[in-house]
Amino acid sequence: MAARKRYFTALKGRESGKEYSPDEVRYVCEFDFGPLEVKYDYETIAKDLTKDVIQSRRPSMWRYKELLPIEGEPTVGAQAGFTPLVKADRLAKRLGVTGELWVKNDSVCYPTLSFKDRVVSVALSRSKEFGYKTVACASTGNLANSVAATAAAAGLECYVFIPHDLEPGKVLGSQVFGANVIRIDGPYDKVNRLCSEVADKYKWAFANVNMRPYYAEGSKTMGFEIAEQLGWRLPDNVVVPMASGSLMCKIEKAFNEFKKLKFVDDRPVKIYGGQAEGCSPITEAVKKGIDLIRPVEKPDTIVKSLAIGNPADGFYAARCIQDSGGYSENPTDAETIEGIRLLAECEGIFAETAGGVTVAAAKRLFETGKLDRKGCTVICVTGNGLKTKECLDGQFTTHKAIAPNLAAFDTLFDSLGNGHAARAPKAQPALA
Ligand SMILES: *Cc1c(COP(=O)(O)O)cnc(C)c1O
Repeated sequence: MAARKRYFTALKGRESGKEYSPDEVRYVCEFDFGPLEVKYDYETIAKDLTKDVIQSRRPSMWRYKELLPIEGEPTVGAQAGFTPLVKADRLAKRLGVTGELWVKNDSVCYPTLSFKDRVVSVALSRSKEFGYKTVACASTGNLANSVAATAAAAGLECYVFIPHDLEPGKVLGSQVFGANVIRIDGPYDKVNRLCSEVADKYKWAFANVNMRPYYAEGSKTMGFEIAEQLGWRLPDNVVVPMASGSLMCKIEKAFNEFKKLKFVDDRPVKIYGGQAEGCSPITEAVKKGIDLIRPVEKPDTIVKSLAIGNPADGFYAARCIQDSGGYSENPTDAETIEGIRLLAECEGIFAETAGGVTVAAAKRLFETGKLDRKGCTVICVTGNGLKTKECLDGQFTTHKAIAPNLAAFDTLFDSLGNGHAARAPKAQPALA
């Protein structure tokens, strides 16, 4: 392996604190079967990684590579990340925000238009370091797309496991890359359970099962980028969609690491969550003020990408929200569609259902005063609307095609109720 200095030193039981060598594949603590967290040597990182070093590097998530758990250079997914942070002034106005409102736009993440490209880049680069030839995942759609594309580019064999009822765009978005798409007759939680068994028997690298400690670290880069793109400062509030709850916890970890390295001032950030009403186990816990997650047996929502009934990091996400002084909301499907349209009409960003939920959650939170309209707020938009377009069926009227002549257009224009086409419109720019 083309060695670079290794900045991560161990995998550590989140509860037990017991440390394991990162040279072996391991994903649960052998004492309490709890999750493992990657541990870093921040003293060494502080010597080698500065803001100047980061800024001198290419605009991808790998500009923070000392804070990511691979040994060599990334071998796959090296272009992922560094998506736009968009100042959302028109949306701010619509939501009554008087402070700053920003949208972190991962709907245009490379290569498969969701934030999952970040986690996959780390998981598959690490899988290759371990020598795996076959990669796989349990997915609600976006992860499968990203694993399939990244595996194709890396020449790895690929199996993706998905619930049977995903959006056609997400199924096709895996098939096109030549992946073996395994549809399971059951909700995500059953898919995930099966994948643990397959991982044990077939010894494949499952991005979010046996590679999960590495996979999850990729999400930190969304937090790093937010801080850097705000001009090396933290926002007052961040609103994050939750499926397993991992992204949220890792955004918090990212902010804490940047504080530790003194890249940003140490100030409190309130963390807010969004889930769909039809599957919102973490939000339910937050609203009750507890951290016990009651699993949802049968998720029922158009927001399929977030439909995890028994979220692996749910307990930690609920804690993360509560400890920060944030809150969580669970909009209805109708509000989600309204959220998609609001973001599209105000900012020109076409988000998938998860983005709609996040915007709708933010709207509710501003309206109820849980989220301060005067602060600096970042809304995380994590996936692209072209993958879930059927949720907008029936939302728009498409007029009949007209003949290609001016009279036909005049008639149509009048019928649209936009004015009087026959008269010359006023206030048009003069023709040169
Ligand atoms: C997977 C996913 C999330 C959330 O993922 P976590 O499991 O909570 O880390 C958010 N948005 C989209 C679009 C996703 O695909």
